[in-house]
Amino acid sequence: MTDETEAELSGAAPRRRPKPSAEKIGNRKLKPSTMMMGYGYDPTLSEGSLKPPIFLTSTFVFPNAAAGKRHFEGVTGKRPGGAEGLVYSRFNGPNQEILEDRLAVWEEAEDALAFSSGMSAIATLFLSMVKPGDTIVHSGPLYAATETLIARILGRFGVHWLDFPAGATRAEIDAVMSKAATGNVALIYLESPANPTNALVDVEAVRASRDAIFTGANKPPIAIDNTFLGPIWAQPLKQGAELVVYSLTKYAGGHSDLVAGSVVGGKDHINTIRMMRNTIGTICDPNTAWMLLRSLETLELRMSRAGENAAKVCEFLKGHPKVEKVGYLGFLEGGDDARQADIYRRHCIGAGSTFSLYLKGGETEAFAFLDSLKIAKLAVSLGGTETLASHPAGMTHLSVPQARKDALGISDNLVRISIGVEDADDLIADFEEALKAV
Ligand SMILES: *Cc1c(COP(=O)(O)O)cnc(C)c1O
Repeated sequence: MTDETEAELSGAAPRRRPKPSAEKIGNRKLKPSTMMMGYGYDPTLSEGSLKPPIFLTSTFVFPNAAAGKRHFEGVTGKRPGGAEGLVYSRFNGPNQEILEDRLAVWEEAEDALAFSSGMSAIATLFLSMVKPGDTIVHSGPLYAATETLIARILGRFGVHWLDFPAGATRAEIDAVMSKAATGNVALIYLESPANPTNALVDVEAVRASRDAIFTGANKPPIAIDNTFLGPIWAQPLKQGAELVVYSLTKYAGGHSDLVAGSVVGGKDHINTIRMMRNTIGTICDPNTAWMLLRSLETLELRMSRAGENAAKVCEFLKGHPKVEKVGYLGFLEGGDDARQADIYRRHCIGAGSTFSLYLKGGETEAFAFLDSLKIAKLAVSLGGTETLASHPAGMTHLSVPQARKDALGISDNLVRISIGVEDADDLIADFEEALKAV
């Protein structure tokens, strides 16, 4: 086949090909924050529109029958890498493809997939990797719905699991991996920092353990939920993870106005997950993808500002007489925290803007504080432009048994806070006044 027919058959594919100038100026490789304004989109293919239009269509017209056949080979996985052209909106669409190109840029990943929610991304990942009798090895605790998905839903289909605590040492991880290796381990699944303990997982140790215990084709991939720190403050592909999972609902979306998810990583694993997504239809819709393209243009601005604000607010809270402790990654030092501080230094670029505030007292004090906040809103979720505060023991973790709550440090005096991009001194004034009401 000649190059011309290849190009012709690939139909709408050229729209996806970013112009080289979008990646480089001379020898200078552009930074993600620059590339978010245009990468992956060619205005000449959309009437010169500076911004990509929202493509509200359920299906796409093929240039000819041979192209249609070729695109379906991509959709069904006969040809790896996904369809080269557009087919049907359960498989792909221009807005989602541009979004995926840009999501991969932040972590220099080979490929990325967009999903309708963080949970649909995680569910599609699991469904594409496991079969009855397999084991998932995971760090704990995980996001509550992820734990439910593994234990109560996949468990019904004969999938087993084994876990190690988020801060586990190499020896502790080895012990769990060796035990799991007597069966077929399909996936190693991590979440760091863990919610709501903020405990970091040593991804380098997990990778070393995996490589020592599993050999050849038996190596289960390492996936990690990086929602709390990614992609600015932690990039776990660099520590040896192969897949990174996101709830884009949080920092990436960043305005508390959408629900979406993604998985980024190497082409081979992404192809496997894409096949499952094509089958079950967990892709995000074009409007949400468009909103995320807008969000990504300010991702670094928003996360940097939120991170700076959190550092100032935590510094204020740390010294306050009504505060018992502030669980903020930026405060990790020696002593009891030495192991966590070491992981933090090796894995993290920043401390994030979501932290745990332990007040002196119990539920009464925590509720009085929450009910007195004026700028910070009383709501679960995180990573938005606005500051949010919530009470894990009485809200997100209400149904967790008391013994497990105690083990995880989910006490009645714990308040979770996600700092936004407001003025830092206004936030400090809000917290100062609310503490007076305690
Ligand atoms: C919110 C969240 C999820 C789930 O994401 P949704 O977009 O709500 O489906 C998964 N993991 C973590 C760490 C989260 O914070």
